[in-house]
Amino acid sequence: MLSLSQRAERIAQSDIRTMSVECERVRGVNLAQGICDTPVPAEVCAAAERAIESGYNQYTRLDGISALRQAIAKKMRSFNGIVADPENEIVVTVGSTGAFYCAFLSLLNPGDEVLLFEPYYGYHVHTVEAVGGVPRYIALRAPDWVFDRKDLEQAITPRTRAIVVNSPANPSGKVFSRAELAWIAEVAQQHDLFVFTDEIYEYFLYDDARHLSIATLPGMRDRTITISGYSKTFSITGWRIGYAVCSERWAGAIGYYSDLAYICAPAPLQHAVAAGINALPESFYQGLRRDYKQKRDLLCQALAEAGFSSRVPAGSYYVLADASRLPGRNSKDRAMYLLENAGVAAVPGGAFYHDDSGENLLRFCYAKTDADLQEAGRRLQRIAVRS
Ligand code: PLP
Repeated sequence: MLSLSQRAERIAQSDIRTMSVECERVRGVNLAQGICDTPVPAEVCAAAERAIESGYNQYTRLDGISALRQAIAKKMRSFNGIVADPENEIVVTVGSTGAFYCAFLSLLNPGDEVLLFEPYYGYHVHTVEAVGGVPRYIALRAPDWVFDRKDLEQAITPRTRAIVVNSPANPSGKVFSRAELAWIAEVAQQHDLFVFTDEIYEYFLYDDARHLSIATLPGMRDRTITISGYSKTFSITGWRIGYAVCSERWAGAIGYYSDLAYICAPAPLQHAVAAGINALPESFYQGLRRDYKQKRDLLCQALAEAGFSSRVPAGSYYVLADASRLPGRNSKDRAMYLLENAGVAAVPGGAFYHDDSGENLLRFCYAKTDADLQEAGRRLQRIAVRS
């Protein structure tokens, strides 16, 4: 009898995709999926067209073209404070998602335990599981999304191999403080753990929040795999350009697995992202912060007026709001109620927890046009008045 592998038997369609399908059905405003509705910078688009016309359409070196590795190295030094050799410490990957998969394949053994902060980004958990690792959870407590150092220490067992840190975070919008990253660094060194970071929202910071890469803390450079990409920064989620920055000891294996699965990231788009990194001035990144702060404020105000309480996020482009005032047995019911009665799609909070802690929560994405956010605000108002 043919059957799926034991691994594949556990897979289920993500709630994010389900909500997007449902949203389309009722022609709602989709604040569920983290797809950027904001424009791609003109320089980046033009460079992609030029690259295709110039014939950069074939396989590249497995760890990416030199121009992109050099551009990333320059950016890592100036923005993140990490000095990385573009020849052997940077691997360009098929999105940061590809970097995670290849890094886990390279550094985790089946049965290894990996600590993740919860609410988590589902891909982190499912990718740990896909390579045979075992996720363990550390609670970030609402409304401030702080964690207890004791919880982190108590989660360590002889099988613990790594910690995943996503800052700024999806879905909570949390930006880990220097003190929190220092605790994590201390624990990682005490127990000889890897740290995998997801810094994809590193430019999406508001008010006085600052980005800090844990690899820059003392003793962390060699045990940290710093992962990021340009999906969000350049609004190119479909282009699939990400990267991992780490010691040469690990980069070779990460490149090997990336080659095995993908051969390389899309060639002309590597050229375009390199051109974008080199060409775009500081004011582009400041503009990003300014525009997204405005979007955040627009959505947070609409949510507050509709009776959904939330912590105004310091980073990323999501708000995880308390929707306990909506009827339903769980977060899926609440998300469906909101979609059917207000025409706004959000992701059920249960998608970000391994237990029932998220059943009163809904995640809203504000990487949307101002017109869509305003329309969502009007629709949320309707539900506020009616109930
Ligand atoms: N990491 C986080 C935390 C995300 O929210 C997302 C997309 O929503 C990704 C990674 C995906 O990144 P990429 O497009 O580089 O694979």
